[in-house]
Amino acid sequence: MQHILVTGGLGFIGVSLLKHLSRDKSVFIHNIDNLSLGVTHFEELVPAAGQARIKTYVDDINNQDLVSSLIRDNDIRQVYHLAAESHVDRSISGPRAFYESNVMGTLSMVEACRDHIEQTGIDDFRFLHVSTDEVFGDLGPEDPPFSEESSYHPSSPYSASKAASDFIIKSWHRTFGFPGMVTNCSNNFGPGQNAEKLIPTIINSLAENRRIPIYGTGQNIRDWLFVDTHVAYLEAVMAIGKLGQSYLIGGDMELTNLDLVKQIHRLFNTRRPDQAKDFEEVFDFVTDRKGHDRRYAIDTTALKSRFTDVQGIAFDTALRDTVDFYLKARD
Ligand code: NAD
Repeated sequence: MQHILVTGGLGFIGVSLLKHLSRDKSVFIHNIDNLSLGVTHFEELVPAAGQARIKTYVDDINNQDLVSSLIRDNDIRQVYHLAAESHVDRSISGPRAFYESNVMGTLSMVEACRDHIEQTGIDDFRFLHVSTDEVFGDLGPEDPPFSEESSYHPSSPYSASKAASDFIIKSWHRTFGFPGMVTNCSNNFGPGQNAEKLIPTIINSLAENRRIPIYGTGQNIRDWLFVDTHVAYLEAVMAIGKLGQSYLIGGDMELTNLDLVKQIHRLFNTRRPDQAKDFEEVFDFVTDRKGHDRRYAIDTTALKSRFTDVQGIAFDTALRDTVDFYLKARD
């Protein structure tokens, strides 16, 4: 059995990662998650056979003794680090928890791994830190998309905390030869995302005949990445990514928030014709978020040329499956 450590495996992306990793019968997964968000779709989305090869520790990644003993006792060589406070709006109303989990938590993880590597002398350890494209700030309408050369300009307490955690990985690689890699991805979507996020909010508002709240004028642009495609890239980076490198993972699907609402509204009308309404009746513009980034976009040329085996899932199919997941959850 190969033992792998995952952090944040009960979160949205973490559950998809556990679903993928646990397909391999020769792998056993240790998952640390403090359940800071409470609800999780782990039971629904990870098949029972896979669940049998996953052990979850409901604990904090700042518990360095736990991390150290898990790595030592199970001879762990691969760590996928996803645990983080991840909701931008919550980082504006209460930033401190973001620095405890995202910055100090990453430091605790990295130090526990570094101690182990130094004590055992193992040379095939790999640590993958999952981060966001929000660390690069935002783009104007005509700017070229983010690439591996983009510089850091975080604009929210959340993105600043993720930027700090990226710098831990990069500087530990330079100073200590720490075997870390960073991925920066765009907005994920898919089944099992927390109900506060934009796509579940749109679907649930339509289903409940409530108007969808859209920040500002709905012209903010996001690039949408299907969570299972993202996870397929994470596995590829873990397998063949170069230590010390950052990889940008995008979905090649730039949409204004208003266009995204339009697409989901159209899908919803085909699924629930009895509740169909005109587009103008389904949304309200609401006061914009403080410091709201205008546009994120990722140049995926380098990613696609390096990881040619990864097969992405088409956006239309992924969005349809996502709408169906949330509607079925309500039945
Ligand atoms: P999520 O909030 O759904 O899940 C994060 C998980 O981490 C939760 O289950 C939470 O309980 C756990 N956690 C938080 N602090 C912890 C701590 N101190 N100790 C142990 N567990 C802790 O987030 P997600 O959307 O699944 O994102 C996963 C990672 O991907 C995060 O690092 C996030 O910054 C990054 N990311 C997400 C997106 C996205 O669109 N969802 C985009 C870019 C990057």
